[in-house]
Amino acid sequence: MNCLECGASDNLCQTRFDEFLVLEFTDAGYGAVHHLTVATYMLQHSSKLTREGWMYERDLLRQFLVEKKPPALIRKQIKDTVDSGKRTFKIKSKDGKPVINKTMWRKTILDVRSENAGVYCEDITAWARSVLEEAETIAI
Ligand SMILES: [Zn+2]
Repeated sequence: MNCLECGASDNLCQTRFDEFLVLEFTDAGYGAVHHLTVATYMLQHSSKLTREGWMYERDLLRQFLVEKKPPALIRKQIKDTVDSGKRTFKIKSKDGKPVINKTMWRKTILDVRSENAGVYCEDITAWARSVLEEAETIAI
């Protein structure tokens, strides 16, 4: 069966995501795009997020890709917001219901090659850009 959220065949997206996280945590060359991998995967799997969480992840991806803010700066902003109690919404969903009804995407995590860190970073970025572009058209 294909994934009901990103459309990946045989539901392989979750397995691939877990494998990629291991790669990213064990090899800094792969870890360079960790911030993109997580935000992009979450946007495509909105059942893991609240409505506010989904918009928040989309905004994060936009800050990385369009505004080109460095991940370290964004991490600091997130930390400051959380520490100061300014973020009043929950990001992770408990009910498991998708907050968007999109099930077909131009690219999924299965389009990412991982034979070396160079192609990996290139493909993660291309996947992230493609997903952001499609996500920006969704009214939520
Ligand atoms: Zn999926």
